[in-house]
Amino acid sequence: MQIPQNGEKITMNGTAISVPDRPVIPFIRGDGTGPDIWRAAVRVLDAAVAAAYGGQRRLRWMEVYAGEAAFRKFDNWLPDETIEAIREYRVAIKGPLTTPVGGGIRSLNVAIRQILDLYVCQRPVRWFEGVPSPVRDPGAVDMVIFRENTEDIYAGAEFEEGQEDTARFLALLKEHFPQRHAKIRFPDSSGIGLKPVSREGTRRLVRAALDYAVAQQRRSVTLVHKGNIMKYTEGAFRNWAYDLAENEYGGRFYTWRQWDRAKERKGEAAANAQQKAALDGGAILMKDAIADIALQQVLTRAHSFDVIATTNLNGDYLSDALAAQVGGIGIAPGGNINSDTGHAVFEATHGTAPKYADKDMVNPGSLILSGEMMLRHLGWNEAAQAIIEAMNAVIGQRAVTYDFHRLMDNATKVKCSEFADRLIASMQA
Ligand code: NAP
Repeated sequence: MQIPQNGEKITMNGTAISVPDRPVIPFIRGDGTGPDIWRAAVRVLDAAVAAAYGGQRRLRWMEVYAGEAAFRKFDNWLPDETIEAIREYRVAIKGPLTTPVGGGIRSLNVAIRQILDLYVCQRPVRWFEGVPSPVRDPGAVDMVIFRENTEDIYAGAEFEEGQEDTARFLALLKEHFPQRHAKIRFPDSSGIGLKPVSREGTRRLVRAALDYAVAQQRRSVTLVHKGNIMKYTEGAFRNWAYDLAENEYGGRFYTWRQWDRAKERKGEAAANAQQKAALDGGAILMKDAIADIALQQVLTRAHSFDVIATTNLNGDYLSDALAAQVGGIGIAPGGNINSDTGHAVFEATHGTAPKYADKDMVNPGSLILSGEMMLRHLGWNEAAQAIIEAMNAVIGQRAVTYDFHRLMDNATKVKCSEFADRLIASMQA
């Protein structure tokens, strides 16, 4: 690891990160097409910072290794030094990594998230003018998903069908909780998965979403859950989230649960009046939607969704479904964040697309927009905004990489590096 000169560490100041003018940012190039999109993205990010702040601020990049590059160099898919560097310097960015087959590590991305307890998976979903979309009004899509990243069925607490452990677990269940055991349709041939959803896990995720909604002056927060079926996990997620918003945000949110209570006590007209008064006074609406209905409504009524807070599995489905509405994975960014410690790893959400490696061909948009999220995390909003405006301008001119080109009429196909060149030219102009 080469620590860059004149760089400084990002630190924590109370509950907020404190960012020097030359923060050291560890980066992982990634495997497959990772190096192609990294080469493009780093130039765009540097140009955005230069355009916004002249020479006053600069990102000081520090390469760290994971994936195939680390395996080749150090015979280790995820060296401790990489994790330690991210822990120490706090904010990092990465390209996609190959998932090693066999050998203990399920996924490098999952390992990084777990070790640093990055409990928020944040995915903005925004349409850029001209991007091919399967829906009629993609311009209505402007949402930010906060997906819980550490719990739910993803915890990995599973029992395989036919194994001794599974039989023991089922026997314990039968002995101690016969009524629940009786609900299992075919106990002797079942695999079993446990779905933990905790009060702590819910509160920290929802707090991140609520704080974001307040800071970015968003219109609403929607809880997406399946609480009608899973009352004590998904339903509890909804209740704990409403409790948090109602009890700890001093009237900044008006919840559907408050509306329900008002309706019960004083009737619907009074509840509507109460809601109107709260929203007119600047409160943000907090509502909830059952996951299956939400998956329909994000298509049919995109404008009524803004910030979304949801459990892990729902968030997984929702993120990809929404990404497809606004151009697909070539342009879908993500961030994995621990809002208490400020640790954050921003990443392209697609995989390594190895068949296109070293062809200077794929869309670098996903990594560039992950960098845009990173800049906002640092509080460098002007640089982030420069990237958004350049993306709008270049895609608006219909200069796009192969993935968009095949879906657009009268577009100019550009290479990965050329797309970056055009963004930079647009920012400099
Ligand atoms: P993938 O790499 O995401 O590629 C699937 C397809 O998505 C590509 O063939 C391409 O579609 C499109 N695509 C991906 N990135 C693109 C880009 N930047 N621009 C335009 N189109 C893009 O999925 P995969 O082939 O299933 O996975 C390959 C490897 O990546 C595996 O080892 C997997 O474990 C790993 N992976 C890593 C991450 C991560 O690090 N975050 C995430 C997922 C998967 P077309 O061929 O149709 O153009």
